[in-house]
Amino acid sequence: MKLKKKQEELLKLSELLFPNNKLTVEEIEKKYPKRDLPVGAQVTRFAPSPTGFMHLGNFFQAFISSTIARISNGVFFLRNEDTDKKREISGASDYVLKVLFDYGIKPMEYEQKGGVTVGEYGPYFQSERIEIYKAYAKKLVCEGKAFPCFCDKTEGIEEIKEQREKKYAIGVVIEEKDPCRNLTLEQIEEKIKAGKGFAIRLKSSGSATNRVEFFDILKGKISMEENSKDVVLLKNDGLPTYHFAHAIDDTLMGTTVVVRGEEWLPSTPVHVEIFNALGFKPVTYLHNPLICIKEGDKKRKVSKRKDKEFAMSFYAQQGYPTEAVCEYVMNLINSGFEMWRKKNPNLPYTEYKFEPLNITASSPVLDMDKLNDISKDVISKYTASQCYEELLAWAREYSLENVDYLIKDKEYVTKVLNIDREKPKPRKDIYKWSMFFELFDYMFSTPTKLEIEEERKKDFEHVLREYKKWLNLSSKEVWFDNIKKMAEKLGYATDNKEFKANPEKFKGNVATVCEYIRIAITGHKNSPDLYEIMTLLGEKQVLERMAEFA
Ligand code: GLU
Repeated sequence: MKLKKKQEELLKLSELLFPNNKLTVEEIEKKYPKRDLPVGAQVTRFAPSPTGFMHLGNFFQAFISSTIARISNGVFFLRNEDTDKKREISGASDYVLKVLFDYGIKPMEYEQKGGVTVGEYGPYFQSERIEIYKAYAKKLVCEGKAFPCFCDKTEGIEEIKEQREKKYAIGVVIEEKDPCRNLTLEQIEEKIKAGKGFAIRLKSSGSATNRVEFFDILKGKISMEENSKDVVLLKNDGLPTYHFAHAIDDTLMGTTVVVRGEEWLPSTPVHVEIFNALGFKPVTYLHNPLICIKEGDKKRKVSKRKDKEFAMSFYAQQGYPTEAVCEYVMNLINSGFEMWRKKNPNLPYTEYKFEPLNITASSPVLDMDKLNDISKDVISKYTASQCYEELLAWAREYSLENVDYLIKDKEYVTKVLNIDREKPKPRKDIYKWSMFFELFDYMFSTPTKLEIEEERKKDFEHVLREYKKWLNLSSKEVWFDNIKKMAEKLGYATDNKEFKANPEKFKGNVATVCEYIRIAITGHKNSPDLYEIMTLLGEKQVLERMAEFA
């Protein structure tokens, strides 16, 4: 067919398929000027689909994205990929925004569902960009790079599959060209007249025997088999596939580094071909490894259903400080962070000179013990009143029954939080706010269970009976002096060297005596500073707890 005639036919086809779409790509592109940013500034984005609630894997990715933008003085934006309307979960996109704000990785451009839009490169919900995708699809049809496909799930597909399987069987290289690419204009007109719906597919010019190259920040230059499939660009319902929307949105919105999960790596040749077909410049990728879970000696993929600690809501409900979670994630991302933290214990984690090239290449393993240790460290640096504010904020959301009490007894609670705090070597046992009442149960009520072994009970009660006479909280020195005197009287060593040399001469040493008092007061063998605890409880309460051993 002569070139001109062919062009006329394609123009006709594009009008036939998109009669009402008058918006041109030139008009669209005018609305998305090149971003005016300093040299080296990177534009990154987080692009979740609201088909599930945000989990640590999403957060990990958003964190990398936002960090790359922050350290390069660039832009980090949020785009909602809400084109799978059937699987969309109500509230999921609001929740993403809340998490990003709560954790201090605020997007500089975003849109609130039914609310404000911040930024000039929106709309930031893909469902509001349908006209844009259609304009580009129309253009591709007009250029002969895309075509309508009338096969739906029930018709034609089986036949195609069968043909392909036969080809596989005889070892013919499989190039998944779609049969609908050969429909004539007349055949298409007929189908449209008959009211048949269609999808738009890419007319792939690739071949599985060729290679394609692209660049990934973590993996370097990657060479893969070229795409040869006529992939769907617009689905029957007019909504774009991820592949098509990704190319258009990331180009128009000026993304310079696409941070996305490793699961997208195999589809990248498709994306490269779509970028080319659209005449777009290729984008740089950073395919991040996926977080996994340790089970025995093996790593396994995280299950959103089974692994409750994977949901971001878990961390909020448990009351982990957001700062601790961020530090933990930074630790997962970059192994050099831990060393830096040791050298700079008091700097905010944002001061760390994060280097995208050093992102851990293998899948990081979710390690709750590590998170707890980091969180203990973070909380140990808080002042008592900071702890109080965080505890109260947590309770307002997740422990309503305690809010009144926390407000009414603010002073006492702050003092409890201050036990062994604001000191050169502060306590490091609290790692989440939900453990506060359990950890400090003895500061709020008389312990009911005492950690004392049956065979030690007699000695224990004996010491407590005696101690009533020696209780003096006027100063730490007097308090301890009295314990020592009593210990001596009851046959316990007060000199450790002596005790070690002749243990059989004593019932124990002064530490044993203190342990008994501690158990009687707190129920536990270990606790923070006993004198602080006893003075906070006050003499009356202490005597009441010892009255049991009359
Ligand atoms: N909506 C895609 C997802 O949630 C985004 C992938 C990407 O970041 O490009 O997996």
